[in-house]
Amino acid sequence: MVSTRREFIKIGGTGVGAVALGSGVTTKWWGLDRDVVPDPRTDGDQVIPSFCELCFWKCGILAHVRDGKVTKIVGNPEHPLSRGHLCPRGTGGVGLLYDPDRLKKPLLRRSKKRGGQEFEEVSWEKALDFTAEKLLRIKKTCGPEKVALFSHGYGGTFFKHLLFAYGSGNVTAPSYGQCRGPREVGFQLTFGSPVGSPEVLDIANSRCITLVGSHLGENMHNTQVQDFARAVANGATVIVVDPRYSTAAGKARYWLPIKPGTDLALLLAWAHVIVAEGLYDREYVEKYATGFDELKKHLEDKTPEWAWAETSIAPELIVETARVIAGARPASLVHPGRHTTWYGDDVQRSRAIAILNALLGSWGRRGGFFIPTSMSVPPYPVPPYAAPAKTAQDHPDGVVYPFADEVLSHGVCDATIPGRVGGPGCPIKGWIVYGTNLIQALPQRQQTLDAIQHLELLVAIDVLPAEITGYADVVLPEATYLERWDDVGPTPWSEPFLAIRQPVVPPLAESKPGWWIAKELANRMDLGSYFPWDDAEKMVVARLEKGGVDVKALRTKGVLRGKKVPVTTEDGLELAFGTATKKIELYSARMAEAGLPPLPPYTRHPQPADGQFRLLFGRTPTHTFGRTTNNRFLSEVYAENEVWMNARAARERGLANGDEVVLVNQDGVRSQPTRLKATQRIRPDCVFVVHGYGHESPGLRFAKGRGLDDSRLVTKVEVDPVAGSTGMSVNFVTVEKAGAAAAAAPAAEA
Ligand code: SF4
Repeated sequence: MVSTRREFIKIGGTGVGAVALGSGVTTKWWGLDRDVVPDPRTDGDQVIPSFCELCFWKCGILAHVRDGKVTKIVGNPEHPLSRGHLCPRGTGGVGLLYDPDRLKKPLLRRSKKRGGQEFEEVSWEKALDFTAEKLLRIKKTCGPEKVALFSHGYGGTFFKHLLFAYGSGNVTAPSYGQCRGPREVGFQLTFGSPVGSPEVLDIANSRCITLVGSHLGENMHNTQVQDFARAVANGATVIVVDPRYSTAAGKARYWLPIKPGTDLALLLAWAHVIVAEGLYDREYVEKYATGFDELKKHLEDKTPEWAWAETSIAPELIVETARVIAGARPASLVHPGRHTTWYGDDVQRSRAIAILNALLGSWGRRGGFFIPTSMSVPPYPVPPYAAPAKTAQDHPDGVVYPFADEVLSHGVCDATIPGRVGGPGCPIKGWIVYGTNLIQALPQRQQTLDAIQHLELLVAIDVLPAEITGYADVVLPEATYLERWDDVGPTPWSEPFLAIRQPVVPPLAESKPGWWIAKELANRMDLGSYFPWDDAEKMVVARLEKGGVDVKALRTKGVLRGKKVPVTTEDGLELAFGTATKKIELYSARMAEAGLPPLPPYTRHPQPADGQFRLLFGRTPTHTFGRTTNNRFLSEVYAENEVWMNARAARERGLANGDEVVLVNQDGVRSQPTRLKATQRIRPDCVFVVHGYGHESPGLRFAKGRGLDDSRLVTKVEVDPVAGSTGMSVNFVTVEKAGAAAAAAPAAEA
């Protein structure tokens, strides 16, 4: 595994991966049983292709298997998303597969109160009977829409299908309202198309890459990082806007350490310069866009001098970077980001990024955004879903957020607490939680915990005993992505391809694949006609054969690639836009009709008081947040998070690098103690931590007690009026020495 990781580091020849990873790789095995895991440096006898699920990117893998054990996982050279390389997390899939803390048997809660952590191991029969009976009772007494599914990951497909068949449309994911939602809405409103996942970015051919709070190299989206390394090697200019000197900033010609909360001012000022100096792509804008005159007027007073007062970035630098950005057009990419729920005006900030890209003519252009293509596979025939009797239950009073195109997870929490939203009537009664640890994934934890206590049923389907499983009534242990079939679905990308998820080894212990769990529940609820196939392999093969796909070749290679088609105008593509006007909508009449600002306005956000710091959170390249922090392999590099704090600010408070500190937020909520990283690589008005640490679940024996859990400090949110997403970078903290904190500490919030 170590050699694979080293290989990966080599892809960032200019150092992206190397800087991020540091040199702390050890050979310590964190107590794993060496008899269970063969020496990973030895090649296996059999190589089985599939695709990765350590994050949502779906890179193609080749799993080496010997004597029924996976010995190592490498990137599939044939797969367009991995190209023979995995990110560090992907190579650590073995650590998930053989995690000694995996859920092994179904569990039923015995404690009276949810969260009491008393469970009984039961048979699958008993666990499934219990779950189906409760689901049927809720359907009969309150209606099927009173059950919601929270889902994360590709395997959620079968549970979404189950929920729709059951009669509920309440399928939700924190990855929308707490992550990418504002970006998707902002781009949809502008170009008539979301950015999608994987993002449709032609980074490799960019001549200028502008990152606004996006930590490429720390958010290790494999293909993007490979492309970024390639672009840097080819001499692309990198501009990084970030209060923190990120890994990407280390590659940048310009690092703009912006005052947090003011990014929109910079974006508008850049647009001002580009329009005022006539640097935009006039031909492209005239041909494809509407609302330029309104935009020009809107930008008149958004001068670099005005933005200076907001952002703390000097006007000369704003002008210079605007010229550099425009000078590289159309191969100039202002990255749309992924985690975009910051301050509550996040759709408007995403709109400003979309508008800048439109001015640069980078949508549908080489070095900008490509228009994705995909293969198609016919569906397996099943009965049509019954139309849900009621609409989404995230805001049952009516449409509150007109442009939210997915159900909002925190809205479902609200709708679970009696009297919180909606008139009299039944609140949501049942949650099925698939692969997402809502305790850390949602802000305002107390609200999540309150909602949980009002449920009649909480089902958790997971691989590991994350915190949410401790609150469940029934815990169903799922097989990992290396042990199961999943449905087959094409990934929109710059070339058409089809990849297959197939088991590499059989499920360990009594864990079961998601398809089996969903099918068994369906059978018990008289919904078996929606799962008419014997098993997922037969279903996948039937779909592929019906689509004329060479199944044997796909199973052997793991991926089949189609004929390339034009995806940019340079390839010969004629652009089309899915907006009402069929044009790029710089000015959004739809937003105006909805009573929302049709052009991005600047909102001044509160700044921390003296002695306070804005709490920022992000990623480390070896982890997918809390999903992987129990992974002993991945934790060899980064086992515990630390608090980044400006070195001078630390010194002024008598704090030194390596001190154990506690963060206390504006509502008095205290974090667990962790180490301070005093550094000049961050502004003095904010602190930064890697999200996903500070686990408290007793079942996560490795991760428990390591680092601090930033999510417990997110007691405040600013809800975006356009998408309903929750801006979470609005919490302020003070930093105390751990010893001092302990003396005065009331109990932390649960
Ligand atoms: S980016 Fe990394 S973790 Fe995500 S799918 Fe690819 S290899 Fe796996």
